Amino acid sequence: MAERIVDLRSDTVTRPTPAMREAIARAEVGDDVFGDDPTVIRLEERVASILRKEAALFFPSGIMANETALQLLARPGTEVIVEAASHFFDWELGAPAALSGVQLRPVPAPDHIFTAELVESAIRPAFRTQLRTAAVCVENTHNAAGGRVFPLERMHEVYDVAHRNHLSVHLDGSRLWNATAATGIAEADYADCADTIMVTLSKGLGCPIGSLLAGERELMERARVIRRRLGGGMRQTGILAAAGLFALDHHRTRLSEDHARAGLLAQLTEDVPGLRVIPPETNIVMFDILRPDLDSVSLVRALEEHGVRMVEVGRRRVRAVTHLDIDDDGIHAAAAALRAVLQ
Ligand SMILES: *Cc1c(COP(=O)(O)O)cnc(C)c1O
Repeated sequence: MAERIVDLRSDTVTRPTPAMREAIARAEVGDDVFGDDPTVIRLEERVASILRKEAALFFPSGIMANETALQLLARPGTEVIVEAASHFFDWELGAPAALSGVQLRPVPAPDHIFTAELVESAIRPAFRTQLRTAAVCVENTHNAAGGRVFPLERMHEVYDVAHRNHLSVHLDGSRLWNATAATGIAEADYADCADTIMVTLSKGLGCPIGSLLAGERELMERARVIRRRLGGGMRQTGILAAAGLFALDHHRTRLSEDHARAGLLAQLTEDVPGLRVIPPETNIVMFDILRPDLDSVSLVRALEEHGVRMVEVGRRRVRAVTHLDIDDDGIHAAAAALRAVLQ
């Protein structure tokens, strides 16, 4: 067993840095259910302004923020179009059905990135006896696609087709920060193509907890009620919001380092026999196992013995995610472990 663990399972495994812990310790707080935590208010205003929306609301998790958006945009008994490998469809434990009474319509897209044509063909015609389509959800960056960026022009096309058909658009932008770091296109320009946007603090930005939902003020006032109903009303939340403000100031621009390290990992492993590397656009590297005698569970277990953690995301697919706590040595160790196991 190696002494130092290189943990590439997710960008959520980061621990708050000493400087972030100091910001947390200094946070001014109040009772956020009464709406008087000053640090939460500052964070919500800051994120609304980054996304060029009227208001934003802090949530304990991305799933709760996504689910709240769904309840805002779709009534029970309506349908919402999602990509077939989206987080909504695969990783939210049936919440749209279980909590919101919403039916998801999974639409497979090439490379997991929707086209306007695919969305349009999934919209139900307005017959009296036909189920109504209420909204479309877009994911940027797309997690299961290996952190792929949803191109801005495509987002505009999807937004136009949705609005022509009276549908709302939700952007699951859990890693929208990474899309911006990769393309240089402002988060707000992506957010222009959506009615509600979810962004996460506890992934690449390195915070312990938190996501935000942004949109029109009236929508966010309704979102506050839904959040409370879902059990997400929190009190001295300023200690979490302080970490968020710190991360926006100090961890946002460094995301390109994570992208460079993901690229380095892909480059160092592209000739490992029995492995196909999906070239990363951001901070997620997907490895497909080509050897019939090895599945993802066994590969993950073998890597663990070399002190490297990755996560199985399919029977023959393993994922590595770079983040704040991974340096170049960690990348070299991970590449060497993959080579050792597969050779
Ligand atoms: C991580 C993630 C979420 C959910 O976030 P949690 O904070 O884990 O609930 C939603 N959407 C996407 C695309 C994600 O990657």
